[in-house]
Amino acid sequence: MHTPDDFIAATVRPEIRALSAYAVARADGLIKLDAMENPYLLPPAVRERIAAAIASVPINRYPDGGAEGVKAALRRAFGIPEGLGLILGNGSDELIQIMTSVVARPGVSILAPEPSFVMYRLNALYAGARFVGVPLLPDFSLDTGAALAAIERERPALIFLAYPNNPTGNLFAVAGMEAILRAATGMVVVDEAYHAFADASFLPRLAEFPNLVVLRTVSKIGMAGLRLGYAVAAPEWTTELNKVRQPYNLNALTQAAAPILLAEDALLAEQAARIKAERSRLHAVLRALPDVVAFPTQTNFVLARVPDAPRWFDRLRETGILVKNLHGWHPSLEHCLRITVGTPAENDALIAALRTLR
Ligand code: PMP
Repeated sequence: MHTPDDFIAATVRPEIRALSAYAVARADGLIKLDAMENPYLLPPAVRERIAAAIASVPINRYPDGGAEGVKAALRRAFGIPEGLGLILGNGSDELIQIMTSVVARPGVSILAPEPSFVMYRLNALYAGARFVGVPLLPDFSLDTGAALAAIERERPALIFLAYPNNPTGNLFAVAGMEAILRAATGMVVVDEAYHAFADASFLPRLAEFPNLVVLRTVSKIGMAGLRLGYAVAAPEWTTELNKVRQPYNLNALTQAAAPILLAEDALLAEQAARIKAERSRLHAVLRALPDVVAFPTQTNFVLARVPDAPRWFDRLRETGILVKNLHGWHPSLEHCLRITVGTPAENDALIAALRTLR
């Protein structure tokens, strides 16, 4: 054995060798409508408060392992009662990894509808669990019958339901969600990454379902760069999840900045309202374009089927606009683009560019 490849072939699992690392598109100089970020910068006064807080962080010390300041800020901002458990992650991505690793062992299965957020399937693969994808119906609604049959057959230890779903943008019907929660014999994670733009949440219903964990993130409401996700559940669940969390997973700069932003209730509400208004405008324009289907959305993005997604993606990029091309991701996403709602000026540029395409 002489080359790195020899050692790798002898040791790295074949399913890992077959993967490519998650590719994040370069967006230098482009209007960035590809990653569901909040397009608005912070007001100068808030930035100054964050700068002052960060300047006084003792960077030579480890951060607070319990991140108590951030937890208190989240509880206040989102009305999370003290009686419920709360666990924080370096983005909700890390919490998905933690949830997966507490259940994964050979023979265990993890279930999610497909297409949905790709990290559910990837984390199952990383952890050596079997992933069971239940196809959504052609209109992207939940195939409750198929999900219940799969639950009975596979008895998954973990189910992920993105609510609203990424990349399709829709909320699944409540009755189907409830049926899955009642039938499941393991943890059911309702991933509410887009809750700020949706009219529904399972957070107020935690007491009804002893297997429910609600997952959220602050990434879509203006803090993607901080990397902060949180999960709320019965304290018994968060106790178990906490056992596999790295001791200092939330860095000190995030812990200093997040509470300042989370205190800005009016700012956060106003930005979400602006994004929802722009979403309606963008959706109406897309829907009116010839040969374009715009799917209903309760998120900060619009999924659209266009006549030729690869060509439209390239043409938009040539005009300086980056969206997400989902063509080739899943059979039901053929010729689909996922377009994040930007500022009014960014959306104007997008709309002008779209009107030149056929
Ligand atoms: N869940 C869903 C449904 C998502 O769409 C995303 C982001 N694309 C995440 C979780 C992860 O978000 P973050 O790690 O930034 O919290």
